[in-house]
Amino acid sequence: MNRKKGSQSCDVLVLGAGPGGYAAAIRAGQAGLKVVIVEGEKAGGTCLNVGCIPSKALIHAASYFQKVKACEQDNPFGISLGVGAATIDLSKTIDWKNGIVSRLNKGVEGLLKKAGVLLITGWGRMLDGKTCEVSGTDGPMLIHADHVILATGSVVTPLPSLPFGGKVISSTEALALTQVPDKLVVVGGGYIGLELGTAFAKFGAEVHVVEFADHILPHYDREIGKVVMQSLKSLGVTVSTGAAAKHLSEDGSGLVVGLADRSEVTLPADKILVTVGRKPRLDGWGADSLYLTMRDGFIAINDKCQTSMTDVYAIGDVTGEPMLAHRAIAQGELVADILAGKPRRFDPVSIPAICFTDPEVVSAGVSPDEATAAGHELMVGEFPFAANGKAMAGAAETGFVRVVARKDNHLVLGIQAVGKGVAELSAAFGLALEMGARLEDIAATIHAHPTQGEALQEAALGALGHPLHI
Ligand code: FAD
Repeated sequence: MNRKKGSQSCDVLVLGAGPGGYAAAIRAGQAGLKVVIVEGEKAGGTCLNVGCIPSKALIHAASYFQKVKACEQDNPFGISLGVGAATIDLSKTIDWKNGIVSRLNKGVEGLLKKAGVLLITGWGRMLDGKTCEVSGTDGPMLIHADHVILATGSVVTPLPSLPFGGKVISSTEALALTQVPDKLVVVGGGYIGLELGTAFAKFGAEVHVVEFADHILPHYDREIGKVVMQSLKSLGVTVSTGAAAKHLSEDGSGLVVGLADRSEVTLPADKILVTVGRKPRLDGWGADSLYLTMRDGFIAINDKCQTSMTDVYAIGDVTGEPMLAHRAIAQGELVADILAGKPRRFDPVSIPAICFTDPEVVSAGVSPDEATAAGHELMVGEFPFAANGKAMAGAAETGFVRVVARKDNHLVLGIQAVGKGVAELSAAFGLALEMGARLEDIAATIHAHPTQGEALQEAALGALGHPLHI
């Protein structure tokens, strides 16, 4: 890792080396700009260290364990295990997950180095719009920059009545547990809570999800939520919707929850995982000494990711929803391109959102309700995986693909899917939307057989009124 004492001046200073910050730094470095990136923890940010990657590693291990366990029981594949019950040593799983994270940390550091970027490890504090003081292990250092990119990301939101500590944990601690809790209560039925809740249920925990809204996955449409709900039930996960987590019971053994019918119940819990959202990281880096305009609690930016201050840009979670790694990366690349003199503006037709539950959920563009609310007359086609040969052959018949298009010109406005492995279809969905596909474009594209992707073609054919396989 590069580290130098004293002061530095550069063309671009990036504060925070999460997906947004490191993407901006690499791209700017590749363009020949002199770039310094400051990171208080490890390169890769939330996503790589305590977010996207470790959670997907745990989800994968949990599914693997579940499949092995399935071989102990009657299954339709004729596979059986004759060597006793499957067991899991979660500490080994965590070691494996940590190994992946550490390889990726090194990978990001290597990419920064290759692009000629100076990575400084330490906590940065902006003194003004062009100067940052870094307090690293080698003592304080000043960095002067012509341009600043703020990429400080986000932090978990605690519940005031249920502060983190003891058995009350955040996703960060959940991803480091070395023992499967017998009873896990998950507060928050959004994507992070359900991904981790599903993983721990597969590891063998008794999981109870408490969601304040009247349905799980409040950011997705209800039809999708219903499919996930069904599968949670079959995994043995209990879900209470319209329920409010209150506080630890007096003896500390469980969580007091107010239910939809106004009664109160105490859910016994070895761990209580609170996943009620994330908030922009605005503390500790000198935001108060800058003149940044805020919008809904986030740093306000325009379509070039410029803040209200000249030469100060902001990207990623600190700038608003959707708080997703690929949005941060896209914004980071965009700002670097602008600083390198390219005309760019941020106007994605879709930022696909994925929930890695079982089945997975993908949503790109708008749902039928959102399109209707925007005043469009619609053509909607939906194709069930139950009628897709590959899905049947892969025991993945749950779910569907849905295409939403304008009635007047058949322009595709949104594509949603719920089903096993549909996360990998998100690239096709995003491409169709970015390329301005019409229903006929998708319908006329020859889709390889047998694949679950054929359901996309069939959904488009369905919207046009002539599906083939249903
Ligand atoms: P961050 O990744 O938060 O990075 C900000 C960095 O800035 C951090 O490394 C921090 O240490 C550093 N920093 C902050 N202040 C300072 C300072 N003063 N000095 C120096 N450094 C500083 N998104 C997806 O797209 N897909 C997923 O599957 C997904 N899964 C997730 C699962 C979990 C459990 C969680 C918690 C999040 C998940 N996310 C996922 C969200 C994703 O992690 C974030 O959207 C993404 O990391 C945002 O990137 P960022 O660069 O804006 O900020």
